[in-house]
Amino acid sequence: MHEVGIASEILRASHAETARRPGARLVAVTVRIGVLAGVDADALRFAWDVMSEQAEYAPVALMIQMVPRRNRCQDCGREYESGIYSEPCPGCASENSLLLGGDEMQLASVEVEE
Ligand SMILES: [Zn+2]
Repeated sequence: MHEVGIASEILRASHAETARRPGARLVAVTVRIGVLAGVDADALRFAWDVMSEQAEYAPVALMIQMVPRRNRCQDCGREYESGIYSEPCPGCASENSLLLGGDEMQLASVEVEE
């Protein structure tokens, strides 16, 4: 379950971010995960809960924002969202699309208490 490693990395990055504000305490973290990133949100949440119970700090809430796949039609230039798989352009029905995103995994924000 590689979600354990991901949870650990998110927690580390969040604490590094919090450490730049003296006296602040980390209370919540929001991550953005693309549907193509290969991350199981439930497994990540589970790993996170186990980890925050073991941590020396107070529990930190994890918010997960799933990001859809984004495509650009190569024929009419329209940008559109779809599920995991490529879907025809809603504008011109072309199946000739370029993948723009949906494979990202990033720390969106951290919430701290001063
Ligand atoms: Zn199109």
